[in-house]
Amino acid sequence: MIRAAFQGFLTALVGAFFLSVPVQAQEDLLSRSDVVRAFERIEASYAPYVDLQIAISEVPAPPFGETERALFMRDLFREGGIENAHIDDAGNVIALRPGTGEKTLVLSAHLDTVWPIETDVAVHREGTRLTAPGILDDAVGLVSLLALLDVLEEGGFETETNLLFVGTVGEEGLGDLKGVKHLFRESPWAGQIDAFVSIDGAGPARIVTGATASKRYRVTVTGPGGHSYGAFGIVNPAHALGNIMAHFASLAVPSDPKTTYSIGRIGGGTSVNTIPQEVWMEVDMRSTSNEALADLEERFLAAVKTGVAQENTFRKASGTELSVDPKLIGDRPTGQTAETSALYRAAAESSRLVGFEPSTGTSSTDSNIPMSMGIPAVTIGGGGSGGGAHRPEEWYDFRDAHLGVQRLLAMVLLFDTFSNEQ
Ligand SMILES: [Zn+2]
Repeated sequence: MIRAAFQGFLTALVGAFFLSVPVQAQEDLLSRSDVVRAFERIEASYAPYVDLQIAISEVPAPPFGETERALFMRDLFREGGIENAHIDDAGNVIALRPGTGEKTLVLSAHLDTVWPIETDVAVHREGTRLTAPGILDDAVGLVSLLALLDVLEEGGFETETNLLFVGTVGEEGLGDLKGVKHLFRESPWAGQIDAFVSIDGAGPARIVTGATASKRYRVTVTGPGGHSYGAFGIVNPAHALGNIMAHFASLAVPSDPKTTYSIGRIGGGTSVNTIPQEVWMEVDMRSTSNEALADLEERFLAAVKTGVAQENTFRKASGTELSVDPKLIGDRPTGQTAETSALYRAAAESSRLVGFEPSTGTSSTDSNIPMSMGIPAVTIGGGGSGGGAHRPEEWYDFRDAHLGVQRLLAMVLLFDTFSNEQ
């Protein structure tokens, strides 16, 4: 175990040297006996965190129903040594491990899953592979926070930076980043946070530095409704929605900046032989550019108007009319974290230190909010590997999961170092 860990260090060091990155900070870290001891300890005794991850994953956390998991996490933070752990007004779990200085770094993962309450969340284990809805997204992030806390406590690490551990609510879907919006805009921590890390899923090489902006709408078309045969000739909301969908689905969008749209859900109606009174659809539009997204949104809203107007005109003789309500149900702003920031450098160097060359990308995550406010933020992967997020066959393989925790420890310590250089 120990020798393997040491070889890992050497590989990382050699790799880092040839990539001509500033290895000094890495060497300084690896010459610290407390760091080496902590690295060895987490590698030798990772097994309890697998059990813990399973336990977290098996506490249901459907959209808007994260309370049970939040309380579970709060208690785990308290057991881990943070007595001030509590649930805030939005439902986030908040646990402060004070540093000796002024700066505050948030280390977060999201509590919620995309899975409705009736989903079977039992975890199936085969060798090092775990399968269950939510086991990756984001049970990995949540257990990583607890493992990091243990490593910090057991090793007696004192940081200069205040470490604010946060389990956020409402990251997925219609949650619309509710928890992190509250944290940055309304909570007592608003204005006090210097940098933000979200651990979301697995893969210690992944660093999200850009935020994809998104707008989501629920479009509801309503009319008088009636018998499909007896009332034929009146306006039909489903037909209008079909028009809207046809217009929307044929919009051209740029591939650079990448801009996308999708109709995710449709519904409504009463029965096969009834002209519906109400039908609806939910759409998701995204872009790496605020301007391109605004342009798409404008054309989407025009498609909504046109589609309804067509049906109203076509059925004008009936004297009936449809109304439509496009309601904004999601609004995530875009932003970017500079690669010169102390946070990015700490994330990248710590990734290299455990043997991974970082790969940067753009995504829609909790980091959108701080990024949009100009606060350095990254979303990173925890240790191990996984796939199938948001699908029932979602899986996670905890081989080398300890590397994720080693990386987090290194990142926190390097953040202290790099912040002082700036
Ligand atoms: Zn996630």
